[in-house]
Amino acid sequence: MVEEQLRARGIHDPHLLRIMAAMPRHLFMDKALEARAYSDHALPIGAEQTISQPFMVALMTQTLDLTGEEKVLEIGTGSGYQTAILAELADRVFTIERIPPIATAARERLTAMGYSNIVYRTADGSLGWREMAPFDRILITAGAPRVPEFVAEQLREGGVAVLPVGTNQQQALVKIVRTKEGVRKKVLTGCTFVPLIGRGGWETRKPAP
Ligand code: SAM
Repeated sequence: MVEEQLRARGIHDPHLLRIMAAMPRHLFMDKALEARAYSDHALPIGAEQTISQPFMVALMTQTLDLTGEEKVLEIGTGSGYQTAILAELADRVFTIERIPPIATAARERLTAMGYSNIVYRTADGSLGWREMAPFDRILITAGAPRVPEFVAEQLREGGVAVLPVGTNQQQALVKIVRTKEGVRKKVLTGCTFVPLIGRGGWETRKPAP
C-alpha cells in the first residue's frame, strides 16, 4: 500500500509513511471487508458512509504539514482511521461525527487502541467547534457545497485547513491558509467524498439514522 499507492503518487513525508505503514487499517472496518483493507479504495462502514481511500487520507494529512505540536479539528470521524493518523502526528485531535452509531464505534475502537489525545463529539460539525477554537489545523472529510464559514473563523492565523468542496457527486480538494489579510485558497486535485450534511454544509430534512 505504502509503496504503490502512496510513495509512487507523491506522498513523501517519511514520518507519515511510517505511521501509515504501521496503522492496522483492517481494524477500522467489518471483518467481512478485511481482505480488501489495504486496497486502493474507500470502503463502506455502514449508514451509507465510507472509510476514505488510503491515498486521500495521506494527501490530506501531508497537506496539513504537522510537526507534533498542533491542535487539530477533524469533521467526519467516520471509522476513526484518519483520526488515529492525526493523533499520531499532532498534539491533540478534536473530532466530530454526526451519526451516533458510527461515532460510538470509532470512539470505542480508538480508546481500545490506546489513544488518549482525542476529544470526541457527536453533533453536526459543519459549524465547527466554537468552544474549542482556535485550531492550528482543520480537516473536513466530507464534501461541502462551499468552504464553511467556520473555517476562517476557527482557524488560527498561519493555520491550514483541507477539505473537499463541490457538488454531491464530485469535489475539488482545497487547501486553505489563514493569513493576516484573510484566507488563501489552492485547489490540489479532484476527489469524491460523501456529503457534509448540516447547517454549514448540505441542508437536508432526512434525519441522521
Ligand atoms: N476519514 C474517515 C475515515 O477514515 O474513516 C472517513 C470519513 S467519511 C468519508 C465522512 C464522515 O463524515 C461520515 O462518517 C459522515 O457521517 C460524517 N459527516 C457528514 N456530515 C457531517 C457533519 N455535518 N458533522 C460531522 N460529521 C459529518
